[in-house]
Amino acid sequence: MNYQPSILIVDDEKGLRNGTKRLLENEGYSVDTAENGTEGIQKGITNDYDLALIDLRMPDVDGLDVLTAFRKNKPETVCFISTAFASYDSAVESAHLGSFAYIPKPFTPEELLQQLRQGYNRRKLLLESKNLKKEREKNLFELAFEKSRLNTIVQSINEGILIINSKYEVVYFNSALLRLFNINELRVSDVVTEKLPADLFETAEKLIQSDLKSDKSFTKQIEMKAGELFVEVAINHVKDPHGFTVGAIFVVNDISELKKIERIKNQFVSMVAHELKTPIVAVDGFIRIILDKSIKLDESKKTEFLKRSVSRLSSMITLVNDLLDISRMELKNKFRIKNDIDLIPLIQSIINSFEVDFKARKLNIRFNYSTDRVLFFADENEINRLFTNLISNAIKYNKVGGSILVNISDSGNFYIIEIIDSGIGLREKERKQLFEEFFRAKNSSTRGIPGTGLGLTIVKRIVENYHGKIEVESEYEKGSNFKIYLPNYKISKQITGDGNGSNSIN
Ligand code: ADP
Repeated sequence: MNYQPSILIVDDEKGLRNGTKRLLENEGYSVDTAENGTEGIQKGITNDYDLALIDLRMPDVDGLDVLTAFRKNKPETVCFISTAFASYDSAVESAHLGSFAYIPKPFTPEELLQQLRQGYNRRKLLLESKNLKKEREKNLFELAFEKSRLNTIVQSINEGILIINSKYEVVYFNSALLRLFNINELRVSDVVTEKLPADLFETAEKLIQSDLKSDKSFTKQIEMKAGELFVEVAINHVKDPHGFTVGAIFVVNDISELKKIERIKNQFVSMVAHELKTPIVAVDGFIRIILDKSIKLDESKKTEFLKRSVSRLSSMITLVNDLLDISRMELKNKFRIKNDIDLIPLIQSIINSFEVDFKARKLNIRFNYSTDRVLFFADENEINRLFTNLISNAIKYNKVGGSILVNISDSGNFYIIEIIDSGIGLREKERKQLFEEFFRAKNSSTRGIPGTGLGLTIVKRIVENYHGKIEVESEYEKGSNFKIYLPNYKISKQITGDGNGSNSIN
């Protein structure tokens, strides 16, 4: 025997105890003994014996009490009751209390070994079933854990999930689905066609009724709530273990935001095409006239047409440059070379660059600031572009002999830079449209003023890129105040910079 079954002999009769011990050790058992019931209980509950041979009558504790203690604490230890006073009652009672066999004394070695062998087989079965039970409990626990974990994941994802069977009954769904379709209640086994938009199920029908073994899946975009909600639904087969379609799974994505962006982009492209087409057609017309031999043109007319072409082309170049600026700003990963810049000299140099225009239009310009330095952490080119556009507008849309005031103040968290002009001003309706791409107020005062209608779009994007905001106050024919709020140096550094004072690129 490789493994030595362990056995505890509990018997107050020394001779029998030692004799049995010797016999069993010779047979390869690992034997322990207890000379009374108390010791038997104590050893029995602290060790894990395969078998126990317990004398029925002992002076201190009855053998049946020892048996009870074993059953309670070590139910897999197989116990035998042996006694020289065998009686029907005690045999029944010991069986009732869970002894494996009742061995009357005296017994022959063969009788005892035969019983113990059977008892040991029983012990092996008991241990096996205990292990199986443990294993099953562990698996069940893992399964329950896995199930609840999966459920939590599915419930917390943003896409709506719906599983239906081939009778169009709900099998499973998550809360995002209810949210997307604005449904208050949906229950397992509800018929989906009564609860959810019909569009969803036209496609599902094709899928469920398609070749049962097909793997084809469908994707569909559905417009709902009169264009307020767009969803993309991916529908896939749910298969049984033999590969047959038994239902469908829907994954529903809210793509309203994407659709909105798509619409704005399309509008933008068509506006750009329109803005570019007008000067191109004009230039094309001038050149064709010049080239047409059948049209007699004197030199001065030709020169005039060429000059008008150049002017149209140069406004096109400005437009293309503005468009490029906008698209560069759109790129979130645009490289910005950020530095500490002082807004005072920067704005002053922009003002200086317009000196010729101030003189030509007899404008009076003032620049006010209350501190020595107005530090900001930004890309200098962008900030230059921002104030150049605003100051250039204050000149373009001013009256001859008018005034411009550039004022910088500090509100604590924000620098407020105001560009105040005494120009043509804006009507309320125009003021509201100011930042739309290509918007240009059309009235007698603006006629003849060149521009693309993109300058303020660029201004707004730059300001927003630096977590600032822009406000406009204006009175028609009196003037306007463009107020720029930029986060102060500390905040601008924290939110857009690297925070350690060095130059940064992002
Ligand atoms: P552009 O000047 O190239 O037309 P902008 O986007 O800079 O484009 O400005 C859009 C429109 O807003 C202008 O066409 C003009 O009608 C109006 N606007 C801008 N700045 C002023 C201002 N300071 N005063 C009055 N109107 C202005």
